[in-house]
Amino acid sequence: MWTSLKNKAKDLGFISLGISRPIRPLYFDSFQRWISEHKHADMRWLEKSIEKREDPSKLLKGCSAVISLAFPYSSEKPQTPDGFCAARYSSPQQEDYHRRLKKLCYELTEIITEAYAGSRFKVCVDSSPIMEKTLAISAGIGFMGKNTLLIIPGYGSYFFLAEILTTAPMEVQAQKPVGNLCGDCTRCIDACPTGALRGPFILDASRCLSYLSIEHKGKIRTDVARKMGRCFFGCDRCQEACPFNNGKTGADVSLPSTEEILGMDNKAFQRRFGNTALARAGLEKIKSNLEAVKHCS
Ligand code: SF4
Ligand code: SF4
Repeated sequence: MWTSLKNKAKDLGFISLGISRPIRPLYFDSFQRWISEHKHADMRWLEKSIEKREDPSKLLKGCSAVISLAFPYSSEKPQTPDGFCAARYSSPQQEDYHRRLKKLCYELTEIITEAYAGSRFKVCVDSSPIMEKTLAISAGIGFMGKNTLLIIPGYGSYFFLAEILTTAPMEVQAQKPVGNLCGDCTRCIDACPTGALRGPFILDASRCLSYLSIEHKGKIRTDVARKMGRCFFGCDRCQEACPFNNGKTGADVSLPSTEEILGMDNKAFQRRFGNTALARAGLEKIKSNLEAVKHCS
């Protein structure tokens, strides 16, 4: 069954998968410390879900295994014809990855059900209280880089993570977690324009451009906008600097012009971006970010 699952996952486009037990995740203490030091900015929902993050089986009664999966996104950065850009993962030409990957994961559950009839599942794609990176490490998928992102040796970090929690009594062979392979490198920390990477493995979300340009509700301050360069949604600089991404780069002019975006009303925004990852920030936030970076560029 594991071989069929792996083959099907590969056919669906996943680049890696692994399995672990739903036990207290690796580095959970570091996560708790990060919260207690208020490095999570105003993402209060993280405080409310600590118990579930500590015990993945709280997300699915009777959970016996967690399958972690990695799905690639393009290394080309979405760009407007006049050179303003958004984070790679937010491709405006694709359906929002939350929905896209959930559908693919549910296709995989069919294989598990064939082997273990009556199994139950919970599929998580970046919106459930689960420590997806450390579970992926336990499943042998990759290691945590000093930029706090999961890195797959030989591939890099341009991918999404998803998890299938299941009650199926699947065999879980203990994996030796992939150890950190950063060595003496500090390129991500050096490249971070705001000092959000306070040191190896320490992210201060309140300074992170990715948080400030997507999750944060307020307006972008001028001093922050200056550090965003021409990127108005997210920030990939600590990934671009990483040698594991092999200098993969490039732009994809898939965004409308800045004039068109700034002239959109909600109806036009929904029509153009409603199904994409850009919708997460909402029209007002996107317009406000774009105005801020245009003003400073
Ligand atoms: S996403 Fe940008 S601002 Fe955030 S840690 Fe990485 S380089 Fe720094
Ligand atoms: S840039 Fe260097 S230190 Fe940072 S995650 Fe990549 S290899 Fe590790």
